[in-house]
Amino acid sequence: MSLTAVYAKKALVGEELEVLEDACILVEDECIAEVTTRREFEASGRDAAIVRLDGRTVLPGLMECHDHLALDARLPGHLDMMNLSECEHTLLALQGLHDDLMSGVTTARCLGDRNYIDVVLRDQIRQGRVSGPDLLVCGIGMKGCHGHGYVGMPHSGVEEFRRTARENMFHGVDILKIFVTPGAPAASPEEFIPCYISYDEIRTVVEEAKAMNLRTAAHCIGGRGLDYCVRAGVDVIEHVYSITPDQVKLLEEEFDGWIDMTSGIVLDPEREPYCPPAAVKKMRAAREYSRQCINQIYQSKKIRYTIGTDANHGLLYKELEYACEGGASSLEALKGVTVHAARMCGLEKKTGQIAKGMKADLIAVDDNPLEEIRALKNVRFVMKSGKICKAE
Ligand SMILES: [Zn+2]
Repeated sequence: MSLTAVYAKKALVGEELEVLEDACILVEDECIAEVTTRREFEASGRDAAIVRLDGRTVLPGLMECHDHLALDARLPGHLDMMNLSECEHTLLALQGLHDDLMSGVTTARCLGDRNYIDVVLRDQIRQGRVSGPDLLVCGIGMKGCHGHGYVGMPHSGVEEFRRTARENMFHGVDILKIFVTPGAPAASPEEFIPCYISYDEIRTVVEEAKAMNLRTAAHCIGGRGLDYCVRAGVDVIEHVYSITPDQVKLLEEEFDGWIDMTSGIVLDPEREPYCPPAAVKKMRAAREYSRQCINQIYQSKKIRYTIGTDANHGLLYKELEYACEGGASSLEALKGVTVHAARMCGLEKKTGQIAKGMKADLIAVDDNPLEEIRALKNVRFVMKSGKICKAE
């Protein structure tokens, strides 16, 4: 057993990310053994290896709630890359995993890949053979055969969805993912939003997941597909770019799942050079309406949400800025990638906060992100499960 004492100017501790000054986090093997102050630790006379993060703020490792491994939104033409070979996908994945980890992501929720590379890489990372965040994976994403989902495979009819759901679970996935609607947002409340999966198909996947105690995630921008997801008991609804005020009310009153926000896809103009011209045109036309729709979630006091990038590796900090611009407090935004993210993933007893017994997933930045969310842009130190992965 080895004891390490991490000293920091401040630490954001516990479920409420409370500021602890002159902090000392004691790490024993993979876990946090104690959260105390430097003064108290030094007075105790105990022996430990010291990690000095003087002047910095330590917080829980970030959880990227919407990732893909074989997709990299930072590359031109990335949406056409789904037909590359398994080997090329793996190389893309390794780069993305590295950049995620170096940016402070210690857990990533991967929402669909090909050839089960996500399952294999999750296991390789856990065995210490590959470096990257701890992963939750969903294997083959299921889409309608006339529908959207670059990373998904086409399905039609309840039995086809059931078969792939079971095949995924046979391979050991953590989540089942379906693609309910188009990817591009609507430009106005009047625009029709197709729904590519029937209520029965959605409900079948939810039932199969529940039978194995797994959770479901649905790509859904809005329209009737969103109503279906709520009624069918989907656990996490992704994106919601085109959600109406009535649907926000529906979520507030009848939905006990989570919304996973990926605002940058629509709001970030810096993503445009990497997308096809037709998609850029549609995105620009829809940007302001989408902003209104998305911000309803950030401003709701009742809807539980988490935050992800959708494969914009290493750039999660940008999503937190959009959340804050949209009306979230920096505390709520930060919870969306730590405490709340862990709860949404069912990992709240293992990670997501700095507390005794949790995995020692820690990062450090120059300033307190509760005062300046942009501080997350430059992550100086990353510890995952007690192991230092980055130290500047
Ligand atoms: Zn996605």
